Amino acid sequence: MEEKYCQSCGMPMGATDEEYGTNADGSKSEDYCKYCYDNGAFTQNCTMDEMIEICVPHMASGDSGMKEDEARKMMKEFFPTLKRWKAA
Ligand SMILES: [Zn+2]
Repeated sequence: MEEKYCQSCGMPMGATDEEYGTNADGSKSEDYCKYCYDNGAFTQNCTMDEMIEICVPHMASGDSGMKEDEARKMMKEFFPTLKRWKAA
C-alpha cells in the first residue's frame, strides 16, 4: 500500500484513519490530518512557508537525527507537491 501523507503538513498518516481530520458532515477527510483539518476547515490559516517553519522543530526532534536546516530543505521540496499548496 502506498504511504499516505497529510496534504497540508506532510505527516505520514499510517494505516488507520485515526490521524485523519473530519469534514463538515463528520466524515473523515481523505487528505488531511486532524491537526490541520477539523470540521471541514483548516485549523491554521497559514502560508506554505509558515507551515514549514511550524513543522521544522517537529521534524528535527525525536529519532530522525535530522538537523533543522536539513528538515527545512526537505520540506521546501516536498510541500509544493502537496494538494493544499500545489495550486497556490
Ligand atoms: Zn496535517
